[in-house]
This record gives sequence, C-alpha cells and structure tokens, in this order.
Amino acid sequence: MAIVFYDSLRKKRTKFESMNPGIVKMYTCGPTVYADAHIGNFRTYIFEDLLRRTLKFLGYKVIQVMNLTDVEDKTINASNEQRVPLQQHTAPIINRFFEDLDTLKIERAEYYPRATEHIPLMLDLVKKLIDNGYAYESEGSIYFRIEKFKSYGKLSGMKLDKLVRGARVDADEYEKDDFRDFALWKAWSEEDGEVGWDSPYGRGRPGWHIECSAMSMRYLGDEFDIHTGGVDNIFPHHENEIAQSECATGNKFVQYWLHSAHLMVDGMKMSKSLGNFFTLRELIAKGYSTRSIRYVLLTSHYRQQINLSGESVLAAKAALERLDTLRHSADEGAGAGEIRSDLAKSIKESELHFTRSIEDDLGISGAMAALFELVSAVHRFSNKSPLNQKEGEALLNFWKKVDSVLSFLFPEQKELPLEVLESVQIRLKARLDRDFSLSDKIRDDLASKGFQIKDTREGTIVIWVQGRELVK
Ligand code: AMP
Ligand code: ZN
Repeated sequence: MAIVFYDSLRKKRTKFESMNPGIVKMYTCGPTVYADAHIGNFRTYIFEDLLRRTLKFLGYKVIQVMNLTDVEDKTINASNEQRVPLQQHTAPIINRFFEDLDTLKIERAEYYPRATEHIPLMLDLVKKLIDNGYAYESEGSIYFRIEKFKSYGKLSGMKLDKLVRGARVDADEYEKDDFRDFALWKAWSEEDGEVGWDSPYGRGRPGWHIECSAMSMRYLGDEFDIHTGGVDNIFPHHENEIAQSECATGNKFVQYWLHSAHLMVDGMKMSKSLGNFFTLRELIAKGYSTRSIRYVLLTSHYRQQINLSGESVLAAKAALERLDTLRHSADEGAGAGEIRSDLAKSIKESELHFTRSIEDDLGISGAMAALFELVSAVHRFSNKSPLNQKEGEALLNFWKKVDSVLSFLFPEQKELPLEVLESVQIRLKARLDRDFSLSDKIRDDLASKGFQIKDTREGTIVIWVQGRELVK
C-alpha cells in the first residue's frame, strides 16, 4: 500500500515517494529560543516525532534537521531585557529544550544546527539572490523582491496583485496585511547591541526566514523530501523560505509540506506572546504524567486542533490503563503450548490495520483502534484459558514493534494512579464550590494513602510519598 500525506502546497492528499529510495530527508522548524518551549510547541514536535517514527517503521532511513533559532528579533529583545549577552540568554533555554524532548520521548533528530553558527552560509545565499536579481539593498539591509518570483504565494494563497510595490517589512514575524518585500539581512541597529556580523553590506544580522533556507540546504541539499511546522509557519515563514530557496537554486525546494494544527486554549492558539501557555514542567508539577501528556498530544490527528484540559489528560490515563491490560496479560503468560491460531490471526490483523492507518496521512485514530481491538481480543482469549508463554511473548513483541512509533506503551516511571488524579479533580471542584469540608476530607484521604496535596499559586501539586502504595 502507498503512503499518503496531505500536502499543504498541492492542498490535497498526495502519494508519498522519496527522492532517494529508502531515504527520507526532512526539515522541521525548531524552537525560537528566547523562552522555554510551551506545550503547544510540543504538539508540533510530537507530530514531527510521529512522522519520523512512522517513516522508520515503514522501512525508511530518516535524516532529520531541526534548527535552533538563536538569533532573530525576539531572542535579541529578550537578551536585552535580561541585560545578558545573547548566547548567555539562549544557552540554558536550549539545554532545557533538550531535557524536555527526552522527557516526552521525542526521538533526537540527526542535526540541530544553530543559526548563529551558520551566518556565512546565509550571506552566501543573500549574495546569490542579489546576483540572480531577486534581492536589493536599502540602507544596509537586503530585501527580497517579491514581485520577481511569480509563484510567490503558492503555499499560503497570497496573491501578487495585492502586493504594495516597493513596500518593505523588517520584522521577522508579520501578518498577511504586511505582505511586502521582506528582510533577508538586517542592518545593525542600536537595539542589536553586541549582536552583529560583518558583511559586504556592513554590520548586520540575518532575517529569520533565510536562516532556515540556509541550514536546510546545508544539511539536506537544494531539494529534499519533507518540510514541516505548525500552521502558523505557513505565512510568512515557509512562503519566504520557498521564495528564497527556489530563486537561489532554480530547483524545487521541498517535495511535501506537512503542517500541524494548533494546540488551543479557550479558542485561542497557545502562544508565548498571548501569555496563555503552560510549559511541560508546569504540567508535570500539576501531577500530570508525561506518558499521559504524550498520549494526548500524539493521539489527536495532527491536522486537528487540540484542546488540552484536565479531562483530556484523565481520559488519556484511562486509555493507557486499558492498553496496559494487554501487557499485564502477556507478562503473566506461562507454561508450554503453541500460539492459538485465532490469537495469531488477531495479532496479524491488528498489525495490518495499524500499518494501513498510520501510513494514511498518519491516521492515528485507526492505528489506536487497531490496538484497542487487540486488547479486547486478548481479554476474550485469556478468559477462555490463560495465555501460555509463547502467546505472551508474541503479544509483547508486537507491542514493542508498534511502540517504536508510539513510545507510550511501556511506562518507565511510576505514575500517579488514576483514582488519585480523579480525587484531585473532585477536590479542585469542591474548593471552587467553597465546600471546604469535602476538600479537606479528600486531602486527608489522599494523605492517608501516601499522597500529599499542596495548593500553590501555580495550582495543586501532588507529592507522592515514596514507599507507600495506594490501598484499594
Ligand atoms: P516558535 O518557537 O514560535 O518558532 O515555534 C516552534 C514550532 O512550534 C513551530 O513549528 C510552530 O509552528 C509551533 N507552534 C507554535 N505554537 C503552537 C501551538 N499553539 N500549537 C501547535 N504548534 C505550535
Ligand atoms: Zn523555519
């Protein structure tokens, strides 16, 4: 069967064929490291992780690049506000980013290039664009002349006839109303302080968009298979990347564009600038397990928005507990005997259904349904007679295989039991209703079971007193 992706450029489901047999080269726009990544950013990184793992599951070798945007408007502003040099501001954020990737079990990309380490490549690209007649200088800055690239707008749907000729935009991020010639290279200004590089046009720094064009070409070549990001990257960032790259090389920059929908809060995109965000660490401090968080982020189809809530994390926990029953039954498999043919058939069907779903535009709902069907089948089989050792092993092998895609079927850490999370939710509601006798009772109950509750300004924290088990 064929792999199919929804390509944002063709605007339709498209059969995937890699440029080189067996190898997929993909570029995933990485974090702007002016502040810690929030859980919305991780929605996109988890989608990219699912894409990477799926391609590997389907037999491809993946070469993935995720850039670290460590110089652009926001990183410079943030380091100015903190009154520290740029790199001193970004370094700890980058470290925490990698820690968060590991916590969420996001597989590492092959390359994490930093913009500040690739400035000469960006200047080469700027020069090529000037030489090819697509860029021009104005007061020490270099701009891309949009009207020269006739297919400008092909990704985002912007129409060239809306362009105000000669108008320019200097900011890295801008809205569609500011559809203008954009900066490839920005002349040094006082706000840049120590940040700046010498260039044939004077001291300055790169625009955000040219960074991704230069770094993707450096590691993946002029043309590569897949480029991803959240939908907010479509305009202007990816539109500008296409313009710069295709005008510099004359080649088709990217074969397939995949974009993830946003993680939302009360109908608004979660974003640092709106201030409506949670970091991964904040969610963990509230008692949510990283396994449940990964489950919520990964099992919503990447082109559908996610509304993250306490209920969705609890539902994830319940789903995981149901999935875990298969592992428990398999672990208990003992004694001699062959694999019952009906059970072997169920495993095969589950694998086929899982694979067919996931290769169809990362159809995670179908893929999960395939696993839940097997969980139910295993219940039926073990109700008839307990599983033998070979059956247990076959199930675990299959579970491990699909977990190379999901990476949440085998928990690593001890987690707060579902009952505790539910009690905490009931207690939160009781507090809102000012029913303090109920909320105190729940707190005492939990304390007697070894779970200490602390109400802080950030929310309620559950401390699991080690060595005590939940008494059922
Ligand atoms: P940034 O650090 O803002 O450059 O964003 C890094 C990545 O996170 C980009 O691919 C964005 O499209 C993505 N992103 C930002 N906010 C959200 C959100 N609320 N939901 C999903 N993805 C997001
Ligand atoms: Zn980018």
